[in-house]
Amino acid sequence: MALTSNNSVEEYILAGRKRFAEDDVLHERVIFYQQTKQHVDGITNAERKRIWRRSSSFEWNEADKTLYFIQAAASRRKVLRNFNDLPIIFNLYHSSPVGGHSGWNATYEKISKVYYWRNMTQDIQHYISTCSQCQKYTPLKIQAPEMRPIKVKEPLELLGVDLIGGANLGGYCQTRDVNDELCKAYGIKRRVTSAYHPQTNGLAERTNRTLKTRLAKLCNTKMSDWPDYLEEVAYSMRAQKQKSTGFTPYHSMFGRQHRPIDQDDMELEVEEEGLSPADESTDTSCSLEGLVSLPTAKEVSLFLQHQDQKRQEVHIKREEKVTAAQEKQTADYNRRKKKGSKIYDLSVGMHVLQSNLRNESRKGGKMEPKWTGPYKILDIDCNQRVALETVKNGKKLNRRVSYSQLRPYLHSQLHDAKFVCLGIK
Ligand SMILES: [Zn+2]
Repeated sequence: MALTSNNSVEEYILAGRKRFAEDDVLHERVIFYQQTKQHVDGITNAERKRIWRRSSSFEWNEADKTLYFIQAAASRRKVLRNFNDLPIIFNLYHSSPVGGHSGWNATYEKISKVYYWRNMTQDIQHYISTCSQCQKYTPLKIQAPEMRPIKVKEPLELLGVDLIGGANLGGYCQTRDVNDELCKAYGIKRRVTSAYHPQTNGLAERTNRTLKTRLAKLCNTKMSDWPDYLEEVAYSMRAQKQKSTGFTPYHSMFGRQHRPIDQDDMELEVEEEGLSPADESTDTSCSLEGLVSLPTAKEVSLFLQHQDQKRQEVHIKREEKVTAAQEKQTADYNRRKKKGSKIYDLSVGMHVLQSNLRNESRKGGKMEPKWTGPYKILDIDCNQRVALETVKNGKKLNRRVSYSQLRPYLHSQLHDAKFVCLGIK
C-alpha cells in the first residue's frame, strides 16, 4: 500500500492500533492455553482451533514473561505486542546512528532477527516513507550510474580510497603524504582515478554516497559533528546485507554472521552508565581470570581450517549472486534511462517539500538536504505556480514556486518525540 497523503497516514495508524489490539486478545488466549492446557470461557470451536494452531508457533516463557514466535528451530523472535513500542524499535533500528536511516529492506532484516509482529513489513515501510530525514534526502532525480562491473575474488583484494568533500573536515583531512607512506609501507599497488571521472572509482563512490547521506541525516546543520557518528554508521553499513552479494560485509569478511543488536543490550548500556561508584565496587564479575581457558594449538588450527572452509562457501555463493546482480543492474539502468521524472498530484492544504536547487549549483553542497520544508500549499494559480507557507510557523514565502519543484511530504505520529517517550514503560 502506498501512502499518498497525511489522511492515509492517520488511517494507517488507526488500523494499526486496532490490529495490535485484536492480535493481543489472541496472544492472551494462547498464553492462557499454554499455561493451563485449557481454553478461556465463552469462545467458539473455530476460535479454539485457531488458538490450538497458534500454539505450535508461539511459545510463552514464564521466566522472562515474554511471548516468542518460533518459525524454525533456529529462529526464536520476541513477539511485539504493544503498538506504542513501535516508535522505540523503529527509532533504534532506523533513525539512530546505528540504524543509519537504512532502507526498508535492510531495516526489516535487522528488526526481524529479534522481533515479530503481524504486518511488520508494512509498518516498517510506513515508518520510513514518513521519515522526515529520508524524505528530505531523496535524490532530486533518478541518476543511473555508468555500468562498469568489477570482479573481485575475496575480501580486501581491491581497496577503494576516496576523499570526501562537502563535509566540515576540520583536522580530519587526509593528505597525499599519508597515502604515499601507507602504500609504500604495505606494498600496495596504487591506481589513481581521474578527478573528473569519479565514476571510475565506482566501488568507493557508491559506498561513500551511502555513508555521506547517512551521516548528513544525523549531523547538526553545520555538519561539524560527523566524526561522532562515523563508527556507528559504518557499523550500520557493515551489518547490512548487500543486494549484489547477498551477504553483509561483516559476513564476507569473517565467514560468519554478526550478532544482531537487541534492544535489551542497549538498555543495559544506559543502566550501566547510571551506576554510582559505590555500585561498581560491589561488582565482582569483571575479572576474566579462571573463567576463560586458552585454546590449544590443535584447537586453533582446527578452528582456522573451519573458518577457511566457511569463507570459501560464502565466496562461491557470493560470486553467483554478484553475476546475477550485475546482469540485473544493466537491465535496470537501461530501463531507468528511458523513464522520465515523476509527476505528483498536489492540492491546496497539502504538505510538500521543495527541491533544494541551491544544492545542485553550489560547490560542496552535496551534504545538504535535497529537499527543504515542509511547506503547506496555500494556492495553485493557472500557471501551475504554487503559494506556500512554512508548516513550522505559518510564515508565507515571498515568491511562488513551480509545481514541478514540489513533492508531497508525509508525517506520521510514530516519529513524534513525545510518542517515542510515551512508549517507554
Ligand atoms: Zn530515515
